[in-house]
Amino acid sequence: MTIQLTVLATGGTIAGIAGSAIGHDYRAGEIGIEDYLEQVGGLGLEAELSGRQIANIDSADMGPGVWNALHPAIMEALADPACNGVIVTHGTDTLEETAFLLDLTLPATKPVVVVGAMRPADAVGYDGLRNFANAVRVASNPDAAGRGTLVVMGDRMFAARDVRKVRTRGAEAFRGFPRESIGLVTPSSLEWFGAPWQRGDGARFAWCDDLPEVAILYVHAALEADMLGRLIGPQTRGVVVAGVGEGNMPEPVRQALAALSTRGIAVVRASRTEEGLVDREPEDEANGFVAARALNPQKARILLQLLLASGESDPAALQRAFDGR
Ligand code: ASP
Repeated sequence: MTIQLTVLATGGTIAGIAGSAIGHDYRAGEIGIEDYLEQVGGLGLEAELSGRQIANIDSADMGPGVWNALHPAIMEALADPACNGVIVTHGTDTLEETAFLLDLTLPATKPVVVVGAMRPADAVGYDGLRNFANAVRVASNPDAAGRGTLVVMGDRMFAARDVRKVRTRGAEAFRGFPRESIGLVTPSSLEWFGAPWQRGDGARFAWCDDLPEVAILYVHAALEADMLGRLIGPQTRGVVVAGVGEGNMPEPVRQALAALSTRGIAVVRASRTEEGLVDREPEDEANGFVAARALNPQKARILLQLLLASGESDPAALQRAFDGR
């Protein structure tokens, strides 16, 4: 049986062009999906690919405008009995946010793989072809279903919940936390580090095309509480604190956030450090705060948006959701 995969393109460096094999500057999101599929057609991949251009942007501009087109396109592909899996091509800068949003809002029925590249298509050492060939290998593998949305970068597979971009340059720019990666892949081989954990599960959240406003407050030495007043508008429903260390903040900022929490604005403590858990502290109860656990601030923001959109705002219930899978 021929494996049939749907490729949904959104742009990024994987579709970028520099105009020089050794130049530094390039434009993300230049190659269209038809041209891209023609290019990968020469690789001898063991799957039939059909493509659709959802957007062609630098992923710094990623947001609801594209997500609201991408999500229904994936749902349509998943519902098609002829489609075995979906590949989303994406810029690496915000790839982790899109992947996590999809992870939380898609059923775990067929493989959904998000892939990018760190070097533009005409650069020496373009990583996009290998990453794409690896993504095809993963999306063709029936055991990829039931693991949520997957991210393929380099020769590693990551769960969307764990993956994060940790370097600005170089092909090894992604890492996972707390699971470093969940398997190894090459264009011709694949090895999982464990069994699927979500097989047959429905989507955890309904799709929301109007996500509530949640701000991220970046904590630094000498941060003053009045910054919050400039950050938060009348529509803001939540704040994720990118705190120092284990989600810590200056005392006046804590007081200002605790006051916001009593006004019904959700406050989640995450960390600005690259890795590590932010666990619940005894004072969180009195402050009305929620601990982000292993999620970094940008992913904590996505989860909080979906929780608020689903009508959840009680800190204890929010904490249970952050404690869950
Ligand atoms: N700025 C690019 C993007 O995120 C970077 C990349 O794709 O590697 O679209």
